Amino acid sequence: MLTSLQGKSVLVTGGTSGIGLGIAIGFARQGAKVAISGRQRDKVEALAARLRDEGLAVIGLAADVSEREQVQRLVDEVATAQGGLDVLCANAGVFPSAALEHMTDADWDLVLDTNAKGSFLCVQAALAHLRRAEYGRVILTSSITGPITGFPGWAHYGASKAAQLGFMRTAAIELARDGITINAVLPGNIVTEGLHGMGDDYLASMAASVPLKRLGQVDDIANAALFFASKEAGYLTGQSLVVDGGQILPESLQALA
Ligand code: NAP
Repeated sequence: MLTSLQGKSVLVTGGTSGIGLGIAIGFARQGAKVAISGRQRDKVEALAARLRDEGLAVIGLAADVSEREQVQRLVDEVATAQGGLDVLCANAGVFPSAALEHMTDADWDLVLDTNAKGSFLCVQAALAHLRRAEYGRVILTSSITGPITGFPGWAHYGASKAAQLGFMRTAAIELARDGITINAVLPGNIVTEGLHGMGDDYLASMAASVPLKRLGQVDDIANAALFFASKEAGYLTGQSLVVDGGQILPESLQALA
C-alpha cells in the first residue's frame, strides 16, 4: 500500500484526452487536486466541470506547451489555484505521421516543439513551485517509439521521445539538489483518441504484436505515474518504465506464435 496522495497538487498537460485524462482521473481518484491543460479553453474548462460533477477536484486551464509565456502562466495559475505544485505530469504530445522522404521542416518543428521543447518548458516553469513543495515529482510521458523501437512515419516523433529521455537524465541530476525526482513512463500502444486516429488496421496489427495480447489502457499508464509520484518512489530518479504488455520483447514473429 502506497502513502496517500490526498491533497497533493498535480498538473497534467495534455489532460483533455487519452493518456493525460487517464492520469488526471487516476490522481483525482486518490484525492489529489488536479489541473488539466490543453490548447482549447472551452474544451478543457467543460471537461474539468464534468469531472467536478463526478466529485473529482479538477480544474481546467488552456495553454500551448510549446509557447514559453503560456506555459509559465499555466504553471503559476495552477500553483495559485491549488496552493502550490507537487507533481508535474508533462504528457502533452502529438504524433502525426510523415514519411521521412516527404517530411517538411514544419512537420519536424511541430512534433519537436510540442513533445521535446514542451517538456523542457513545463519542467523549467514548474521548478520554483516544485522546490517550494519540498516533495517535487516530475513524470514525463515518453514512448517506446524512439527510445527503443521505430515505426515508419515517426522519425520526428521518435527523435522527440528519445530527446525527452536525454533531457531527463541531466535534469535528474540538477533537480536532485532540491529533492525533486524526474522519471519517464514509456507507453506501448495505448487505446486513446489519438491512437484511434491511426485506423483499425494499425490497431489490429499492434494488438497482435503484444505478448499480453491486448492494447494498453490509459489506467495502465496512470498506475505507473501514480507510482512515480508516490512517497515510496522517492529514491528513484532519471529512470524509464516501459508499460507495453511486453511489446518490445519478441525477437521475431515466431516468438509470438
Ligand atoms: P491524444 O489522445 O491525442 O491526447 C493528446 C493530448 O495532448 C490532448 O490533451 C491535447 O490537447 C494535448 N496537446 C497536444 N498538443 C498540445 C500542445 N501544443 N499544447 C498543449 N496540449 C497539447 O494522445 P495520447 O495518445 O493520449 O498521447 C498522450 C501522450 O502519450 C503523448 O505524449 C504521446 O506521445 C504519448 N504516447 C501515447 C501512446 C499511445 O499509444 N496512445 C504511446 C506512447 C506514447 P488539445 O488537443 O485539447 O490541445
